[in-house]
Amino acid sequence: MLKVEQLSAGYGAIEVLHSVSFEVPAQSIVALLGANGVGKTTMMRALLGLIPARQGTVSLEGTPIEHFSTEHRVKCGLSLVPEGRELFGSLTVRENLLVGAFTRHDHQETETQLARVLDYFPRLKTRLYALASSLSGGEGQMLAIGRALMSQPRLLLLDEPSNGLAPVVVDTVFDVIAQLRRKEHLTIIVVEQNVHKALKVADMAYIIQGGHIALYGTPDTLAHNPALQELYLGS
Ligand code: ATP
Repeated sequence: MLKVEQLSAGYGAIEVLHSVSFEVPAQSIVALLGANGVGKTTMMRALLGLIPARQGTVSLEGTPIEHFSTEHRVKCGLSLVPEGRELFGSLTVRENLLVGAFTRHDHQETETQLARVLDYFPRLKTRLYALASSLSGGEGQMLAIGRALMSQPRLLLLDEPSNGLAPVVVDTVFDVIAQLRRKEHLTIIVVEQNVHKALKVADMAYIIQGGHIALYGTPDTLAHNPALQELYLGS
């Protein structure tokens, strides 16, 4: 589904990702793991085109997309749940969800997507006309995921979805991730600090260290790899 080859990206004079290559098979859940500051969010931004690729290619089902605008990538089926959620606090839950459908111009289809998203997160139904700024952390994360689903992505990028959430809400979020793959055949890339949860749901994990892929494998192989612990302690 997604093939990243020799991708480099960064900010100003600083290169954060150095010639990174990895693949994401269709309908798989791939975890990107690593210590703070190693470049996981930078990778998500580069995949969505929020920062340019300095070198390398990103192909979605064989089509090179690294020169596409973010809007074009969303139309091609990519969607991001950003780190820190980035909700519009002064808009209602419903309005935030509608923002996620910005690439759609069919009112009926948007309402259908709204109903679909609310089925995943019934809690949001009861908060539809509340301001996003009044939501709890868990509700906010549900809204951030729901907003990303409104464009009906085929490849969903989730940046630290469990960050700052109570364990019970983390379970809900990971349950929805598993359901999205099972019911809708979505392909998912998830960046996580919660290694245990991520390895439980993922088919494959890549460990990033210092802007490189340091290690990769199935959760089973990685769980028994002593280097995983070591890589987590250093960066
Ligand atoms: P975390 O888990 O803390 O979010 P991360 O692996 O996602 O870490 P990034 O956010 O990708 O790491 O950051 C990688 C490096 O890029 C860090 O050194 C960070 O300080 C730097 N960086 C991130 N965003 C910017 C920016 N907008 N301008 C300049 N440097 C940045």
